[in-house]
Amino acid sequence: MSKTIEQYFVDWENSAFGYGYGTGEPHTLAALKGFFDALGRPDNPNAYDYRILEQKLTPTVAWLMINILCREDVIEYGTSPRGGWLTQAGEALRAFVDAHSVEELDALTERRGGYASCCRDVCNCGDNSVLGPACPNPFWDRS
Ligand SMILES: [Zn+2]
Repeated sequence: MSKTIEQYFVDWENSAFGYGYGTGEPHTLAALKGFFDALGRPDNPNAYDYRILEQKLTPTVAWLMINILCREDVIEYGTSPRGGWLTQAGEALRAFVDAHSVEELDALTERRGGYASCCRDVCNCGDNSVLGPACPNPFWDRS
């Protein structure tokens, strides 16, 4: 049973953040959207410069997002995380976030009873729960 793109986003959000309990999500999702809005360098529209992120998000939010999104393989970098770019999964995530308002994203993350959420390393949406990269969530980098 495959999931919708909205459900893949819910699983990604729950894995990357997940501790909002209906109160934190509008803030973490606004920071995520703000991060994508602040992307763009002359050489690459999907790249960031930490100085721009600091200016637009505040240094605190900018560096928290860089840390979380590096760990989630949404962004990668060469010599320094002060400047990096989106991975393929990051580009998919950006396209989804760009197409939705914070309010719409927040509404998606409201918990629903009986929903079988998947994690990055554990899939619950197949016939059996399996360990490994079985869930084809486009927001999780499999490379
Ligand atoms: Zn799954």
